[in-house]
Amino acid sequence: MSRLSPRGNHKKRSRSANLKNDTDLSGYPSLLKPHWIVFGQKIKVVISPTEVIEEGTGRILAGNYSYLDKRITLNGTLPPEEMVRTLYHELSHALLNRVGLVQTDMTKDQHELICENFSNWIFETFG
Ligand SMILES: [Zn+2]
Repeated sequence: MSRLSPRGNHKKRSRSANLKNDTDLSGYPSLLKPHWIVFGQKIKVVISPTEVIEEGTGRILAGNYSYLDKRITLNGTLPPEEMVRTLYHELSHALLNRVGLVQTDMTKDQHELICENFSNWIFETFG
């Protein structure tokens, strides 16, 4: 499950180029820690120094959650606020997976709708 990069002008942050590797989160908001625990499952968070491209479609993504790898990849070229919003969105996918909604017959669009609205509410409430 993934989140499309929002339309608009994304200035490439110079610190992206200074990352030692894709797990170096120094300089990013404290919410962007290397891993999160979602109902007992460790979810790794990595920041890509380059844009995240969706396999198959070539679309530029704000982030992606891999169920198989238990890993969230964030597009490191986004502004910090957008990265935090994307983190919440991708964590919502991990949450839906952990509570079993992924195993239902919900459509991808329904998943995305839930994750986008839930993450917007988290951001609106907690920043
Ligand atoms: Zn998504």
